[in-house]
Amino acid sequence: MKVYGIVLAGGSGKRVGSEIPKQYIEVNGKPLLYYTLKAFEDSEVDQISVVADEAHLQFVVSEIVDKYGLKKVIRVCQGGSERFDSVHHGLDDLRTIAEAEDLVLIHDGARPFIKPEEINRMIDEVKLHDAAIAAMPVKDTIKVSDVEGFVAATTVRSSTWQIQTPQGFRYELVKEAYDKAAQMKWKAPDSEPEAEGGLLDAGKIFTDDSMVIEAVCPEQKIKLVPVSYENIKITTAEDLERAKNLL
Ligand code: C5P
Repeated sequence: MKVYGIVLAGGSGKRVGSEIPKQYIEVNGKPLLYYTLKAFEDSEVDQISVVADEAHLQFVVSEIVDKYGLKKVIRVCQGGSERFDSVHHGLDDLRTIAEAEDLVLIHDGARPFIKPEEINRMIDEVKLHDAAIAAMPVKDTIKVSDVEGFVAATTVRSSTWQIQTPQGFRYELVKEAYDKAAQMKWKAPDSEPEAEGGLLDAGKIFTDDSMVIEAVCPEQKIKLVPVSYENIKITTAEDLERAKNLL
């Protein structure tokens, strides 16, 4: 049984306010994506696929994988217009080499603080449960808003989690779920009941991988695995400053 990592670097990351996508911004002389890939390289993952946007495919190969000798990166494939599409491409690209029972850990390239030990812990949990996702118990109370920005509900803090990546699954489970989800149209969870006509492509609905499993395979249990509060996704210029101090 093999363990594959799919590291996503196909987004444009405009919220950071930089010209280049956030995962390629240099911190201490190396692109952020390097730090993410290095953690996977130093973990028990066997092989790594990087999913990048078309403009950076060559950059990933020559300026990250070859330059820093990342031996586990076996594939660099092209992403899609939404995160869902990029993951789907990455899963599809593995179909000739991955077996049904193999494990796949999907991780945001823009989360460079993940540690090899945390990746290994995720692998152990996926082996046990077939589906496991990195998460942090929330420290603040989380509220749900209505469309006008008023409080609609308050979640129970002790059972509310903030979800991160890696998200790991048996290959067959996640590949089939993505294939099915991609063929269907979906109702947005926050759409008004009367707005029935507004069905959307999967890419507009699914912001993480476990959501796809929840929607397509509701009987599959998904284990929440606590990881460090440091495992943030670089999203804003402020996060980038933090990365410079931490990396
Ligand atoms: O945009 P967001 O911060 O949610 O992106 C999360 C991760 O997914 C990032 O690492 C980004 O590069 C990746 N992504 C992708 N393809 C897209 C959009 C995002 O690989 N079309």
